[in-house]
Amino acid sequence: MNAETSNRILIGIVVGIVLAFIGVALFGAEMTRFEWLGQLFLDALKMLIVPLVVASMVVGITGLGDVRSLGRMGGTTVVYYFITTSLAVLLGIVLVNLIKPGVGMTLGTEIPDTVLGKETLGVADLILSFVSDNIVASMAQLDLLPIIVFSIFFGGVLTTLGEQGRPVITFFESLNEAIMKMVHLVMYLAPAGVFGLVAARFGAATGEPGGVAAMIGSVGKYMVTVLLGLGIHALVVLPLILWLVGGRNPMRYAADLATPLLASFSTASSSATLPLTLEAVEEKAGVPRRSAYFVLPLGATINMDGTALYEAVAAIFIAQAAGIPLSPMQQALIFATATLAAIGAAGIPQAGLVTMVIVLRAVGLPLEGIALILSIDWLLDRFRTTVNVWGDACGAAVVAKRLEQQPTEA
Ligand code: ASP
Repeated sequence: MNAETSNRILIGIVVGIVLAFIGVALFGAEMTRFEWLGQLFLDALKMLIVPLVVASMVVGITGLGDVRSLGRMGGTTVVYYFITTSLAVLLGIVLVNLIKPGVGMTLGTEIPDTVLGKETLGVADLILSFVSDNIVASMAQLDLLPIIVFSIFFGGVLTTLGEQGRPVITFFESLNEAIMKMVHLVMYLAPAGVFGLVAARFGAATGEPGGVAAMIGSVGKYMVTVLLGLGIHALVVLPLILWLVGGRNPMRYAADLATPLLASFSTASSSATLPLTLEAVEEKAGVPRRSAYFVLPLGATINMDGTALYEAVAAIFIAQAAGIPLSPMQQALIFATATLAAIGAAGIPQAGLVTMVIVLRAVGLPLEGIALILSIDWLLDRFRTTVNVWGDACGAAVVAKRLEQQPTEA
């Protein structure tokens, strides 16, 4: 897509968001009428995810040449994910201990519906979620993690087949080009789609008991803690890494990523945003395909800095509200499980709220605490998803640099 068209779409998205907020201010819950516009855009993006993930990962991996390079790429990527996620969790833990948003709050007595039936979620479930017994079923359910594992496996094996693997690789290269072209076309829907998504969700919030103000008022300090952490991570920590290790100008890179970042806020889904992230990182920012195609799909499902930070803050907030003091050992356990819970969360709206069960159970905190953060979760979800996508995008540039591939010019 040429720069002029993509800038026009970006301006359209910004106008869409502004109009949605003006509409919500004037018409409140009436704006939910536009929900279908958002749904149309979301469905169009989701429709592309499975073929795009398989094709881009196979192209990315087979483009590496041999399985040894795959090991190097994988290693560098995992180190990046691990370091940035750990920094995010650590930041969350420090802030929640300093601000103490839960002190003086009281817990409800009921476990919210969102986590009913998931009360026994544990680390073993997380490991099992990497592999599916039926890849077709995973595709049908947009369950990306096993699809990604399958694609890495498949692409890796293809590189060992020599001439015999060529036709299949060529097939996936063509498939990838075609799907990327479809992404470009779907992007024309983005301004109207983003308008619909924001108008409907924020419009609905004004119709909830007490409206947005009451919702924010009751857990305001908690919200400030999460947003402060997300802000520091996204505006200080990640840009520093991007600049020092990735060798890129963070402002310029963020500008290139503006469309997926705004889309992630509107959709609250890293997976649904993935087609736009791939497009922007490769075509606008000029990150080499091999890194982008590996780091981004994998990152959309397992590298969630925003979610990890939020899991840690929320768990400790619940402990404070329940009046349960946490020992340094328990805080360390929260550090580990918040990281795992973020890996386990799917890139879909409010997935982090469910995997929070892993963190709460690990330190014996009441699941009823989730009710406390439920009302505001849809809003925080949007911010943490934006940070998740930003973290993945920074990762693509950092990994590319580490592998000493000079970025091509956009
Ligand atoms: N909505 C988030 C994402 O898609 C996951 C979560 O934190 O709930 O990245």
